[in-house]
Amino acid sequence: MKVIIVGAGVGGTSAGIALQKLGHDVVIYDQMRENKPVGAALSLWSNGVKVLNWLGLGAEVAALGGDMADMVYRDGRTGETLCDFSLAPITAQTGQKSYPVARADLQALLMERFGLDGIHLGKRLTDIADDGATVTATFADGTTDTADLLIGADGARSLTRDYVQLDGAPTIERTYSGYTNINGLVPVSEAIGRATAWTTYVADGKRAAVMPVAGDRFYFWFDIPQPSAIPYDRADGVAPLREAFAGWATGVQELLDAIDPTTSLNRVEIWDITPFDTWTKGRVAILGDAAHNTTPDIGQGACSALEDAFALGIAFATNSLDVADTLRRYAAMRVERAGELVMRARARAWETHAFDPAVTDAWYASLRGADGAGIIRGIVGNIEGSPVNLGGGVLAR
Ligand SMILES: Cc1cc2nc3c(=O)[nH]c(=O)nc-3n(C[C@H](O)[C@H](O)[C@H](O)COP(=O)(O)OP(=O)(O)OC[C@H]3O[C@@H](n4cnc5c(N)ncnc54)[C@H](O)[C@@H]3O)c2cc1C
Repeated sequence: MKVIIVGAGVGGTSAGIALQKLGHDVVIYDQMRENKPVGAALSLWSNGVKVLNWLGLGAEVAALGGDMADMVYRDGRTGETLCDFSLAPITAQTGQKSYPVARADLQALLMERFGLDGIHLGKRLTDIADDGATVTATFADGTTDTADLLIGADGARSLTRDYVQLDGAPTIERTYSGYTNINGLVPVSEAIGRATAWTTYVADGKRAAVMPVAGDRFYFWFDIPQPSAIPYDRADGVAPLREAFAGWATGVQELLDAIDPTTSLNRVEIWDITPFDTWTKGRVAILGDAAHNTTPDIGQGACSALEDAFALGIAFATNSLDVADTLRRYAAMRVERAGELVMRARARAWETHAFDPAVTDAWYASLRGADGAGIIRGIVGNIEGSPVNLGGGVLAR
């Protein structure tokens, strides 16, 4: 079969590799003119890594991954360690180590494995037409392509999502989470946090965190609860961060000093979409953020896109009625699970950003002296329901 995928992010490229492995003829179109991922890095929890293993990329992704052995929480203002524990139980229980990876590295790996010849950049999808036998994509430059099916992996502002919604369904709106995330990469420094730990400084509903990625770098991010559409000029560099984190602990000031805003500083408002269950229409289906746009609070957006790629591959490997039926079965595997992760992330965003200060204070209190068992249970709980686990998600607690 010929397959058109719109979107060359983690979702589109991983789905493309999965379908190529089944022998399909896959072509990817993306509106971007060059491969420049938004955001510096992401955590690939074991459910995401397992899909990459299945795609034959296990050794490569392990080489890109940082050694995130432990988790540390610190008081943002005093720097006092609230808790410090090993993440090894997550690996033992789920059967796979999790890795933070630089986005550009992951993106390059996926695009190269798919095959750069099959990825066409500078192609903005503007229209989809399904005549029952084939589906045709039209692009802003006036060109078209026709295939047996089309997968919309076109991200949070998906045009394909609009297409697949049933006639008369309300327009799907994104919801502002109430905070902004600022992220980038800096060289590892023990003055900020241990080289093998995910260290998070917390206070006042804000967070400053670092995670190790390959190449002796820390992925850093800051969360600042604030209204949407606050003006920000790139020329301001770290000034708004210095203002928001004035008086915070020495480790946070060291992190601010380490940032080079000209090379690695991204600012992104965090939005999500309330889960919805129409993911397919005829020969067209959505995947990744197009289908389940989430806040990053449990680090599962890209992992969930990878789960989609797995489910899509299994659906096409095992079903034989017709394309529309297979796409519906793919969606049936995914809608509930992906929606649950979106809602878990939304709840966690609420808990951690002091939108209700008493709730966040209770969370801070729970961190003090914690042995990590509850946190590990939560992370494993996000992972165990993955379709990649085929029901065998957790072997021991
Ligand atoms: C701050 C932050 C931190 C995060 N951290 C994590 C984490 O730790 N772990 C995790 O698993 N996830 C994380 N995520 C979520 C993760 O980034 C996303 O879920 C993931 O990148 C979605 O991939 P995607 O391929 O679905 O969409 P995208 O990466 O958005 O790709 C969509 C592509 O479609 C293209 N496109 C859009 N419209 C059109 C069109 N009309 N025509 C052609 N092309 C089009 C775009 O150019 C884009 O390249 C985080 C997100 C944020 C914002």
